[in-house]
Amino acid sequence: MGTFQIDFGDSAKPDRIIGIDLGTTNSLAAFMDLTGPAIIPTAEGGRIVPSIVSLLENGSIVAGEPARARLTTHPGTTLYSTKRFMDQAATGLPLGGRTITPPEAGAHILLALKNNAEAFFGEEVTKAVVTVPAYFNDAQRQATKDAGRIAGLDILRLVNEPTAAALAYGLDKRKQGTIAVYDFGGGTFDISILKLQDGIFEVLATNGDTHLGGDDIDQLLVAIALEDMGGHCENPERLRQAIIAAKEQLSFQLTATIEVDGYQRAIDREQFNHLINPIVERTVGPCVQCLKDAKLTAQDIDEVVLVGGSTRIPLVRGTVEHLFRAKPHTELNPDEVVALGAAVQAGILSGEVKDTLLLDVTPLSLGIETMGGVVSKLIHRNSTIPASETEQFTTAVDGQKNVLIHVLQGEREIVKDCRSLARFELKDIDPVSAGLARIEVKFLIDANGILNVSAKDLRTGKEQSVEVKPSYGLTDEQVEAMILSSLVNAEADIRERQVREARVEADRIIAALESAKLNEAWANLPADDKQAIHLAHNELLLAYHSDDHRLIHTYMEKLDKASLTLAENMMNTAVRGALKGTKI
Ligand code: ADP
Ligand code: MG
Repeated sequence: MGTFQIDFGDSAKPDRIIGIDLGTTNSLAAFMDLTGPAIIPTAEGGRIVPSIVSLLENGSIVAGEPARARLTTHPGTTLYSTKRFMDQAATGLPLGGRTITPPEAGAHILLALKNNAEAFFGEEVTKAVVTVPAYFNDAQRQATKDAGRIAGLDILRLVNEPTAAALAYGLDKRKQGTIAVYDFGGGTFDISILKLQDGIFEVLATNGDTHLGGDDIDQLLVAIALEDMGGHCENPERLRQAIIAAKEQLSFQLTATIEVDGYQRAIDREQFNHLINPIVERTVGPCVQCLKDAKLTAQDIDEVVLVGGSTRIPLVRGTVEHLFRAKPHTELNPDEVVALGAAVQAGILSGEVKDTLLLDVTPLSLGIETMGGVVSKLIHRNSTIPASETEQFTTAVDGQKNVLIHVLQGEREIVKDCRSLARFELKDIDPVSAGLARIEVKFLIDANGILNVSAKDLRTGKEQSVEVKPSYGLTDEQVEAMILSSLVNAEADIRERQVREARVEADRIIAALESAKLNEAWANLPADDKQAIHLAHNELLLAYHSDDHRLIHTYMEKLDKASLTLAENMMNTAVRGALKGTKI
């Protein structure tokens, strides 16, 4: 008889995953507590880690509160707002005598948060969900992931900040709805409109101003105080801190006093509102544009969520309420809601939070093969799922009866360099002239990552479809390798694609010319014209095999010009290339 061993070890316990808001001004970490998401305290006993790094005399770098304290004393060796430069990940920011890249600066802030979490839990923390602005592009998202890697944090998922805010409020529990997330932070203003369907968020539109925030209010008040002081100020940084303190008080009380180095000035809320109104008004335009881009009006918005410390200002709240004609959510701290939402997402990933569908993105682009062996992408990588995209294609051959739909995955331009997912034929389409058929191809990825591809002949209504699971049999390493190879080969790929597309176009013109020669207009064409066409035709055939797409285009244009009279005579636009559309 054998013995059974029951494993009570770590494998039964899910890994701890924390949620992090890596902000421009402030960063926070949160976790899923028994009653819901909660903020992880900082080493100083606070909740917020200022997104500031500072180089010490001994050469080491500190982040957070100790770095903020050095802003007044060591401004030359202290950096803030480095998140702004995440799109220039390789650029060194001067920090004292040396340089630091934006992901490295981010890593120091993440490390401070990681250390706080480890002290709080009394165990190592290596996994996190980190939020990023909805408008962050691939490079900025990658730079954020790099920051995690440098800090020894495995970033399991990047979540859009507005989505995290909506999650913190549990808005995913609604069946459906439209949510506006108004985020007015320290240095940036973002407005996002999310659509919620069956527990899944989709970003419909984003807008904002990357240089508008609480900092602008601070600067305005500093300028006024400096004028007051006759332009002389002993320590401008100390003045700024005093002004920030007064500004923050004015959100809760009707008057505040700016006090610094013997200078004193009282300010009441009415004066304050009057002063900052132009700054707050600058958030209105982006909101209006965002609604417009989402093809919605204020009436369509079901919920409004406030994010960012500057939304504590009563004037800002009033402006938002007026704009969206709805009382915004203010139950949670606006500077904590993104981190709390990240913790909810972390809980979903670790299995602590149930009943919520995962928010996910497609790791690789999806598309179909078009003439010349090139790939036409319909859904681009990093699209949030569910996702759907529709495009029209046409046929390449006169009287074509069947079209082959070849579904591909990957970032490269040429079919042979991508992963083939499926092939199917749409049969018995209306056999019209080349370029006249209208084939609608639709890609739809559902919340479970299943891809449905359908093709429909819009003339006959005939339709055919296939279902695949694009992630099937793909490891993370393979996905990364595919993305990397597209970066390495980007230039060569584009050139190859351009040449192939030019050849497809040349084929079309030559075929059109051949069929024109059967027309009686050809027989009646003056010999000079025929001669010019023959010449241009031969030149195009010579250019055809060159690997310079511009050369092929030049001779296509020459042939086009030479056949102008013929085309006019035929009253047929075929030769002149009026038939547009990508051919399957
Ligand atoms: P970010 O997302 O840019 O990192 P936060 O959301 O933490 O920044 O917002 C920071 C900004 O909020 C700062 O300009 C800060 O002065 C401002 N802020 C914080 N609390 C208040 C308050 N009570 N009243 C007004 N502004 C505040
Ligand atoms: Mg923020």
